[in-house]
Amino acid sequence: MAGAPESAIGSVLRLGDRTDAISLAGGLPASEALIAAEVAAAMSEVLAGAANGLQYGETNGLPELREWLGRRLLTERGIAADAGGITVTHGSQQAIDLVCKVLLDPGDVVVVDRPSYLGALQVFRLFQADLRQVPLAADPDLAALEEALRAGLRPRLLYLVPSFANPTGATLGDGQRRRLAGLAERFDFVVVEDDAYGDLWLDDGGAPGPAIASHTDRAIHLGSLSKVLSPGIRVGYLHAPATLRQPLRLVRQASDLGNSDLLQRAVLILLTRDGYLDDRLGSLRARYRHRRDALATALRQHLPDAEFTVPAGGFFLWAGFAPGVDAGDLLPSALAQGVSFVPGEHFYVSTPDRAMARLSFSGLPPERADTAARRLAGALAARPRPSAAVTVSR
Ligand code: PMP
Repeated sequence: MAGAPESAIGSVLRLGDRTDAISLAGGLPASEALIAAEVAAAMSEVLAGAANGLQYGETNGLPELREWLGRRLLTERGIAADAGGITVTHGSQQAIDLVCKVLLDPGDVVVVDRPSYLGALQVFRLFQADLRQVPLAADPDLAALEEALRAGLRPRLLYLVPSFANPTGATLGDGQRRRLAGLAERFDFVVVEDDAYGDLWLDDGGAPGPAIASHTDRAIHLGSLSKVLSPGIRVGYLHAPATLRQPLRLVRQASDLGNSDLLQRAVLILLTRDGYLDDRLGSLRARYRHRRDALATALRQHLPDAEFTVPAGGFFLWAGFAPGVDAGDLLPSALAQGVSFVPGEHFYVSTPDRAMARLSFSGLPPERADTAARRLAGALAARPRPSAAVTVSR
């Protein structure tokens, strides 16, 4: 990979790093919501114990953590999960990579939603997949997918973020989930269901329906504690059908022998502390709801021509700034005004919708939303207009 160009994900993370701009770019948890003292206390508790977490652990992950995750997948997502089907991973990002190592050969067809999480696109490209982008969340009957399958498309994998997606914030309804499960069985492909935001519904009663993996054993379910606890602990997980467990274990062993035993034990202490997770989720939901609403209100006020739907969960608003405005073209003047975002083009395999942009509210303190929107409005006002002079030759 020597001389490889910078990835889209790398440039997005760098946009988020700029201290001179308000960042609506990175999809990062609110820094105020990170839990240093709690992680430090849990790690000290592990280190002081008999199993101090400093040895190699099991490749698939700490058994007690896998059991806890299995129970939660059943109660929260309706998946008949067992600890033997769970692999603890370094975030859901590594889970995508492991799934590709087991299932993909170069040239295999992978269907992804349109638009789709760019970190997953990057993995599929590295595995030289034949990427096909089909609208999924935005297609209530999944008619476009079914038509393509009937016409002979034969995907090996279909990857999607079913709840509060990155970048659109969209969520598949119950009917869509069942239908997708049925299509996977009929047309013999594996659904990779990336549930990175599944716990982050922001309105009362807004929990997404049961997972796709609750309807079929042709789905691999990925989850992550990055948004719930912190991304720096790098704990995610996957639940795989029985046939894939042994190959997954082999590729995982070859990759890195498994996650840190110390961090997994510390995470388990936090997750099993009475009331801890419910309290934490409650406060995260309130924080992100406040941020989402502040950004939506500010955009409505300062960018009256902007079009967006307010997502029911997750981290992102998917917005068009004004008719005829290319979000990628607007970015330099937005940066000059002191605000960053991710142009929508990065989330497409081809023929991008250039009007759209991903605006992340997760890292935006509500009191800065007004300034962020004013700066976006300033960028729109400052953008060079196409020349009005038209020369007519007769
Ligand atoms: N999937 C989606 C949809 C994401 O948005 C992200 C992070 N932005 C990831 C996976 C990776 O998260 P992690 O590896 O930290 O679990």
